[in-house]
Amino acid sequence: MLPYPKAIASKLPNVGTTIFTVMSRLATECNAINLSQGFPDFDCAPELRALFCKYINAGYNQYPPMAGIMSLREAIAEKMSSLYGATYDPEHEVTVTPGATYAIYTAVSAFVNPGDEVILFEPAYDSYAPAVEVNGGKCVYVQLKYPDYSVDWEAVKRAITPKTRMMILNSPTNPTATVFSGEDFRMLASLLRDTDVIVASDEVYEHLVYDGHKHQSVASIPGLAERSFVVNSFGKTYAVTGWKMGYALAPKNLMLEFRKVHQFNAFVSNSPVQYAFADFMKNKDAYLSLPAFYQRKRDLFLECLKGSRFKPLPSRGTFFQNLAYDAISDEKDYDLAIRLTREKGVASIPVSVFYREPPAHKVLRFCFAKSDETLAKGAEILRKL
Ligand code: PMP
Ligand code: GLN
Repeated sequence: MLPYPKAIASKLPNVGTTIFTVMSRLATECNAINLSQGFPDFDCAPELRALFCKYINAGYNQYPPMAGIMSLREAIAEKMSSLYGATYDPEHEVTVTPGATYAIYTAVSAFVNPGDEVILFEPAYDSYAPAVEVNGGKCVYVQLKYPDYSVDWEAVKRAITPKTRMMILNSPTNPTATVFSGEDFRMLASLLRDTDVIVASDEVYEHLVYDGHKHQSVASIPGLAERSFVVNSFGKTYAVTGWKMGYALAPKNLMLEFRKVHQFNAFVSNSPVQYAFADFMKNKDAYLSLPAFYQRKRDLFLECLKGSRFKPLPSRGTFFQNLAYDAISDEKDYDLAIRLTREKGVASIPVSVFYREPPAHKVLRFCFAKSDETLAKGAEILRKL
């Protein structure tokens, strides 16, 4: 049969399969220790699983309200108030979504018109640029400065033009494992003061901050909160990445446009999961205990790596540890990541995939949201390289 149509004018001609799919598939094929894709290899809280089952069995299996069930929206608003002193009206300003990626995509497609510019920091999480480009927008990149991946605010200032429609932020940052400071956010607020730029702030790692660093939400920054979407994911916080649940918060006028797109795309998010989270969110310790839990895992991984020729870069947030490998190999990071998976049995993520052009520095990203045993086994192999 002849293919139809004969030629496809791809809207994303340069996009292949995401690195997370590529590396996790290869890790499975090679039976390798998978420190590549960011997901916990341990199970979520049994109470959370029990709540999900409870609501399925109780018949909460039909469409919930479009923006999410009210008790969950109230729980989210209450959390934003208690953690960041931010006020969001659950009726108009909180929307439950099928994941954070979806929420970012929805915010972009609700506001970015063809030809609009969207500022991204590079390295950038891999879903951002395609979301902009498929909607006809143009990505404008500001480089984070290696090796501390700090922001050059003068460069941000130069990147802002009358065409700038949006800026996508991500702190704690995937893949750099850095955390923006209060000063960073104040700089941003002052740069955006006289503009109409909308901010999409991906805060999925809000609870994964270490060494006394504090997560700052744009929700608590005057000058940013009014123009921002705060996006979050239950997947990271509750170790249920496969449930694909998240949420977006924004002032009413912005959220109104967001919901116009959402209601004709996913329309709603999974019903019984929402009821489960509405109950489970009452247990604040489940997220307040996360910094200590993951910091211990990061430290265990680093301890097991002692003596290795890999050079750890700071990991102040997220569940990623970057390792520079200049002392080990001249290979491209992608080639090395593939070879280590095939030959040594440890999978990682090459950081160059988060750039348009491969950077000069050589870094692999390792996920430490894994059991202690997996981390120790993986580090033992890496230590010998
Ligand atoms: N944003 C960032 C920065 C991420 O690292 C991830 C996944 N790890 C997501 C969004 C995806 O969140 P979700 O699975 O809820 O779409
Ligand atoms: N965000 C996760 C990571 O960085 C993966 C999510 C995905 O596979 N899309 O590894």
